[in-house]
Amino acid sequence: MPVPPDAAQRRAIPPVICYPNETLPKPDLALYARARATATKTSVILVPARDAAPFHVPAGHFFRISAPQGPQVGDLNLWNANDLSERFYSGKSRALHGTHLTTGERMWSSFPTLRPMATITEDTLGWYGIDEFGGSVHDVIGTRCDPYTGNLLSGTQYHHCCHSNLTRALADATGLSLHAAEAHVHDVLNVFMCTGFTRDTGQYFMKASPVRPDDYLEFFAEIDLLGALSACPGGDCSSEHSSDTAQCHPLLVEVFAPQEGALDGWSSPPVNGYDRTHGRAPG
Ligand SMILES: [Zn+2]
Repeated sequence: MPVPPDAAQRRAIPPVICYPNETLPKPDLALYARARATATKTSVILVPARDAAPFHVPAGHFFRISAPQGPQVGDLNLWNANDLSERFYSGKSRALHGTHLTTGERMWSSFPTLRPMATITEDTLGWYGIDEFGGSVHDVIGTRCDPYTGNLLSGTQYHHCCHSNLTRALADATGLSLHAAEAHVHDVLNVFMCTGFTRDTGQYFMKASPVRPDDYLEFFAEIDLLGALSACPGGDCSSEHSSDTAQCHPLLVEVFAPQEGALDGWSSPPVNGYDRTHGRAPG
């Protein structure tokens, strides 16, 4: 196609932020930090390498994800523990906060609830920022590695992609069949994964995760959560995923309960206030 004479002019139009987020309800991070300071550990879940594990976090409790045995990325799904139809909405979290999440940002739920499910309270990799390749950590731009794409691209039958790992974990946690559980698995928060889009071709890229054994990402549960975390078969995602080639490590999930009264003044966020009439008279 011919390039129009005003191409440079059109390209030079400055961008506008789609969702200015100054009016988003702000988490009280100081209150969370005070509550966390006296919280006590209530459970520890080890997620085996190339597998996933489910975990429960009651509203008002904290959970921490770490990779104590070696660099490893994790694919995180969250559901309302009382209603699986409310689940993490990666795309809207990206639209509200940007391509990668860090301290003070939220994991938002799907429609029609669209409310904070979890707030990131600590990110020891927050220093990473955006590197010279445009890469950053903890993305909401990827999906989750899955056997269907693997089959499409190379005809494989691989069973330990994050999608399958999360499916088995949710089935085990709920008693649902694999196929019923699979329908609830959704796009993830890519914990510790370092990703971006190439400037020249716009392709999704990954590079070796900067995570080290003492790093962690910590969350405050805004509602009762059922989570599932997969230790991606990509390991630190420095080479490939969707195979047993990469060196993989387990991940750790630790849950912490606040002291009685430590969250006075806080309440679980209500569901979204849109009236859901969609422009028609209710009834
Ligand atoms: Zn994966």
